[in-house]
Amino acid sequence: MIVKRGVAVSPGVAIGPAMVLGAAALRIRRRFIRADNAEAELERFRSALDHVCEEIATNERQANEQIGKQYGAIFSAHLQLARDPKLISEVDELVRKRHYSPEFASSHVLRKYAHQLQNLGNPYLAERANDLFDLERRILRNLLNEQKEDLAHLTEDVIVLAHNLTPSETAVLDRKHVLGFATEIGGATSHTAILAGALELPAIVGVGHFLTEISGGTTVILDGNHGELLIDPDEDTIARYRDAAQKARAVAARILSLSPRTAETKDRTRIHVYGNIEFPEEAEHCIERGADGIGLYRTEFLYLAGARERTEQDHFNAYRAVIEKVGDRPIVIRTLDLGADKVLPAEETFERCANPELGLRSIRLSLDNLQLFKTQLRAILRAATTGQVSVMFPLISSLLELRQAKMILEDVKEDLTDEGVEFNASVPVGIMVEVPSAALMAVEFAREVDFFSIGTNDLIQYTLAADRSDPAVAKYYNSADPAVLRLIRMVVRAGAESGLPVTVCGQMSSDPKFVPLFVGMGLRNLSATPQAVPEVKEVIRSLTIAHAEQIAASAMELDLARDIEGFLRGELKRICPDLAE
Ligand code: PEP
Ligand code: MG
Repeated sequence: MIVKRGVAVSPGVAIGPAMVLGAAALRIRRRFIRADNAEAELERFRSALDHVCEEIATNERQANEQIGKQYGAIFSAHLQLARDPKLISEVDELVRKRHYSPEFASSHVLRKYAHQLQNLGNPYLAERANDLFDLERRILRNLLNEQKEDLAHLTEDVIVLAHNLTPSETAVLDRKHVLGFATEIGGATSHTAILAGALELPAIVGVGHFLTEISGGTTVILDGNHGELLIDPDEDTIARYRDAAQKARAVAARILSLSPRTAETKDRTRIHVYGNIEFPEEAEHCIERGADGIGLYRTEFLYLAGARERTEQDHFNAYRAVIEKVGDRPIVIRTLDLGADKVLPAEETFERCANPELGLRSIRLSLDNLQLFKTQLRAILRAATTGQVSVMFPLISSLLELRQAKMILEDVKEDLTDEGVEFNASVPVGIMVEVPSAALMAVEFAREVDFFSIGTNDLIQYTLAADRSDPAVAKYYNSADPAVLRLIRMVVRAGAESGLPVTVCGQMSSDPKFVPLFVGMGLRNLSATPQAVPEVKEVIRSLTIAHAEQIAASAMELDLARDIEGFLRGELKRICPDLAE
């Protein structure tokens, strides 16, 4: 048995036969055409491109229908690329003037741009090179008349193993038969990773070179919880994983069946559990799983399909779609958190910087680009005439920054009033507390906002100086570090003194072992990923406030992250043995 490790991007365990996709099977060598045959060769290229456009349009339709418009938008971006006149004319020139074959010319042009993207030193843009490789593969398949691997219509269960899966290949995976996938390359923020989560398929990316060590049909275990791929496991290991997966399924089904029950501690303290979403379609998943509303809507994912500027109507439609799904439950719409590990804004507003996590991102970028910011605020205020909408500013690091953001919000209200446009003038305003400076100044911030939402993902990285997406420093990125817990406690106390609601919306809220600690610290609102909502509610229902307070007090006395983590795991085991497994 060989064990490979990668980045876990979508949870769950799958066991089954491997389907190994050919890696760089379509690499094209330089080939020349006869000079007098350029026109016929170009006709062949144009006809292949027409087929490609039809294929993409079909994928777009399928994605729109099956998983929602946000995903379909990936393909409309591909369609724009395929029709780019610059690209077509470059291929044209290479065929006419240099007599390259259309196969080599198109591969050459697309790879040139893909490599340029990869060399910009920005992980997000490097991931987008994938979209160009996807287009290259489609064009070559059509030019070479190659039968494509039909991942959309399989006849038996498989685990897909590939060098790379493009977003389009991922979006059309046959969900009846594909049990999960692992790829050699790819990062946690890629479109492919996001799609795996939305499809709820166990997935691992960035495993490194492994395809040569496996042939199709070999049994593999894909552990999307821990990022492990076990190739050709022995019978005992298979039995152990099957057993664990079956137990996990039974526990998940039991907990899901309880999810309509309110999250109330044994001694009847109500805790609100909200869901975090990236796409409007996910709002439904939250409600099905018993969420009390949407605690964090990451609106920057509106930019998933490319850097095209989004209009006020694009924003408005997305927000209305969420409101329609959640009815009168609360929704916290976070203004764009663009930059760093996330989606980038239009190219002209993006400047390369050496340290994107500390650069012009998030609220700073909105304040630097008022057009972008005001467009979004107008849409939020207009959509908020129905539904219980709040607005939240991300990455606030000083009071001045908050005051500037609030001033822009007031300007937008004035504009809408002058224009006679209907909007909600009393939308509550909150901030993400995710920079240590904001936690340290929480008492002062509390006087100027309606709520706090603690973003532990960023708070951990900025407190411990460990990049959240860099595996090389993963051991320094410790959720349970006492410094992080002290900052969280500081914010909770500042909120309590001012009677301000405080939520934790970072990933820690989705980890059941932190739930007793948070409740014990005094938190009464948590916002988790949709899949985690039923578990979080179950832990709450198994607690008393006194017990939670005791756990928090003991945890806060420990001075090492690993001791705190071990202690909390032990407590969870006592409270909810099922979930601690
Ligand atoms: C966070 O930083 O904890 C958070 C919730 O925001 P994001 O993960 O979108 O940065
Ligand atoms: Mg954040």
